[in-house]
Amino acid sequence: MAENAEEYVPDFDISKPSIARVYDATLGGKDNFAVDREGAAMIAKHVPKIKEASQDNRLGLTKGVDYVVRQGIDQFLDIGAGLPTMENTHQVAQRINPNAKVCYVDNDPIVLAHGRALLATNDSTTIVTADLRDPQTILDHPEVNKFIDFTRPVGLMVVGLMMHFHPDEEPGNWIKTLLDACPSGSYLHITDFADTGYPEQKAMEKSCIQALGNGWIRTPEQIEAHFQGLPLVPPGIEYPTRWFPGEPDREVPAVEDLEEHQRIIMAGLAYKP
Ligand code: SAM
Repeated sequence: MAENAEEYVPDFDISKPSIARVYDATLGGKDNFAVDREGAAMIAKHVPKIKEASQDNRLGLTKGVDYVVRQGIDQFLDIGAGLPTMENTHQVAQRINPNAKVCYVDNDPIVLAHGRALLATNDSTTIVTADLRDPQTILDHPEVNKFIDFTRPVGLMVVGLMMHFHPDEEPGNWIKTLLDACPSGSYLHITDFADTGYPEQKAMEKSCIQALGNGWIRTPEQIEAHFQGLPLVPPGIEYPTRWFPGEPDREVPAVEDLEEHQRIIMAGLAYKP
């Protein structure tokens, strides 16, 4: 466990909803306060199937981890880990490769508290408190370096948090710093709120901004830009239901046939040659 985890002192205000706890509430979890459940209810007013949309994001997470571990990657840096839920990164990865290591990072201290008990359950899994907006502190963190060998390919995950909770162009710089530290053969896995012109996507943005003060949607081109020009694993940026990395010819439902909640999130995976 991270000896230095407490060095980072994040904001901790339980009078305001937090992304991690609101997300947990939308998934039906128990690690949240009344203010978070109110936030989740506010989002549900505009996006009635928010639970299913959150589950869809998890589908994007598990499909990406499954693909990456099958490519032989055995160490994951999962930034924006979230509160423990079903099918966490280490469970998906270690089912395929029991020796796979996962280092979770989140800037919410609640995630650290719960993650200690539930995410960091074995010697191959750890969790640290750090912030994506200060990527060098992640790279310099002793526990991260104990777990992740940056001379070997890494599965870098920025799933369900990057652009949609950060409004400006900086996410690209943060990702670049992290990617520069990962050697050739590494993968970058992102999911984000989609903007492809559907009203449910605008509703998601509006309700998140009301409930949390952030939660912007992005076009597939904007999402792709955050992969820093790395080649995307086919089929590229897609809705999780239609996303089967490495299987571009697979038959998938038409976008118009998807349910509204299946068009909220898009996922992508890139390879560092
Ligand atoms: N990755 C998980 C998933 O996709 O299911 C959890 C996603 S949850 C919606 C977003 C998580 O990112 C929250 O736990 C939140 O605390 C964390 N987060 C948001 N901004 C962050 C930042 N700047 N640095 C680190 N973690 C952050």
